[in-house]
This record gives sequence, structure tokens and C-alpha cells, in this order.
Amino acid sequence: MPRGVVNALTFDVEEWFHAANLGVPRDRWESLASRLDGPIDKILALLECHATRATFFVLGWVADRHPQIVLRIHRRGHEIASHGYWHEPVTAQSRDEFRADLVASKDSLEGITGEALTGYRAPSYSIGKDTEWALDELQRQGFLYDSSVYPVRAPHGRYGVAGAPLRPYRIHPELWEFPLPTVAVFGHRLPAATGGYLRLWPMAVTEQALKQNRRSGIPTVVNIHPWEMDPDHPRWPAPWWRRALHYNNLHGTEGKLSRLLAAYSFTTLAALRESCERQEAVDARPVTRRKSAYAHAGCDHLRGAPIPAAGLDAALVR
Ligand SMILES: [Zn+2]
Repeated sequence: MPRGVVNALTFDVEEWFHAANLGVPRDRWESLASRLDGPIDKILALLECHATRATFFVLGWVADRHPQIVLRIHRRGHEIASHGYWHEPVTAQSRDEFRADLVASKDSLEGITGEALTGYRAPSYSIGKDTEWALDELQRQGFLYDSSVYPVRAPHGRYGVAGAPLRPYRIHPELWEFPLPTVAVFGHRLPAATGGYLRLWPMAVTEQALKQNRRSGIPTVVNIHPWEMDPDHPRWPAPWWRRALHYNNLHGTEGKLSRLLAAYSFTTLAALRESCERQEAVDARPVTRRKSAYAHAGCDHLRGAPIPAAGLDAALVR
């Protein structure tokens, strides 16, 4: 097992027709065939081969129609977390709508696994400064971490909070934020190692993101969609530039995931959160600190660093 920072490997479990770039209307979803079985089996086999556990953010809509997929993932020892119910960006919902969507996904997934959910990821990474109330709602509903904040403005401008922290941080008493990863290239900070960025950037850029983060003691939160492991899924007549973002380099995803699993260490976000909590407790001891068993887990940065007060504004890097 490679040494160094332990990263998190995550999958947003949704059908190809849920992807925001394609804009497939909700009333067409039931008429389109599911294509999740194949890519999920590929992912589970790769994870087993590399003895790696991962976090699967499952859409409630998918869980209600394919509970056996949720069970298959859960029985292999992976973490089940929520990706919301209807795949509606938080920015398009009122707080009441967000709460209802969140609770529906939580009820569905917990009903299948029999275990309490602790993690959430918003569709299209859509928690930002204008939707900070969503983090309050996650805390109220008993979630222990979120992984929805992209700490850089995305090139297409649809999400991202420029200047937000790059490292995991506590945003409420129980709620941690695990930001999505970035890479510094020629003085510019760009999103990396997630979805389209993993597919479209050369592998050298993705590996640069992991190496830069490792040097800074930051765990990289890699994210992949099962439809990105299914190059032959149907072509939907979306605008050309949206099709380009969605369909390009699908053939390369499986190889890139294999390469990452062979070269870097990954675990679930729940395990990473636990490590961060444990590291914080070790750091708070008023005695000479021994080398911690969790030091490798990417939380060294918390040593002596001020914990941001609640709220993204307070957490922004000045
Ligand atoms: Zn999604």
C-alpha cells in the first residue's frame, strides 16, 4: 500500500440521464432504461482488487428503483451517503424544498441499509455562499459531513466558492466540510480529479493535484460517476458544448481509476472524518504529543491551526 496522505474515493450514483449537462427532463426518466448495473459491477471489482473502501453518494430516486444496487455496494463494506433525491441543485430549491428532498433521500437509503447516513453531496456541487443555509439543515438532520463545496469558481461559472478553504474543516459543532480538489497550474487554481475534470484534463494534471495536496497534507476527494465508466450509453441531443463536456474521454475513465487505485491510498469520507476528529483530540492534549496513528490521514494541517467559525464566510481564506 503506498504511503503518504490517505485520500477519499467517492462515486455519485446516478443514471446518465440525471447528469446536469444533458438536461433530460424529469418526466422522461421513467421511460429510459437503467444502465447502472454494468458500471457499478466494474467499480466494485476494481475496489475489491485494490482492497479499497469508498463512499457512494446515492440518489434517492435511484435507491427507490434499484435497492439491490444499494445493498450490493453496502454489503461489500462501502459507505452509503446521500446525493439528494431529485438531483435538483440546491441553488434551485427553497430551504423547505431542500429539507424535503434531503429527508426523502435519507429515509429511502436508511430504509434499505438499516444504518444511519452521515454524509451528503449536493448535485452539481451546488452549496456556496448563497446556499449556506443548506449546511445548517444538514446539521439539523444529523449529518456529520458534507462534500459539496468547490473551493474555486468552475470555468463554466455554475458553481464554486473562490477563496474557500482547500482543506477539510469543521463548519458546525458536528458537521465537517470536505472540499472538492483543485490543482495549481501556471499560477491558476483549477478544479481537478472530479467528474469531467478527471476525464478531460490529462492524467498528469490529476496526479499533480494529488501530489500538490499530499505535499500540503490535504486529502484529495476524487469523484467519479458510474455513467463515466459506461462509454456506450445513449447520446442525448443536448447543445454541442454540453455534449462535449458529458461524452468526451469516457473510454479513459476506467484506466484512470485503475491507475489512481494502484498509486495512491483511498478510504471513505466517514473514515476520513473520524481520523480528523481523532487527530483534533490528540492535538488538544496538554502533554507532549506522540506521533499519532492518524497523522498519515491528512489532518496534520489541523495541528495548531484555528478552526473556522461556523459559516462559509468565516471560513474563507483571506
Ligand atoms: Zn450528481
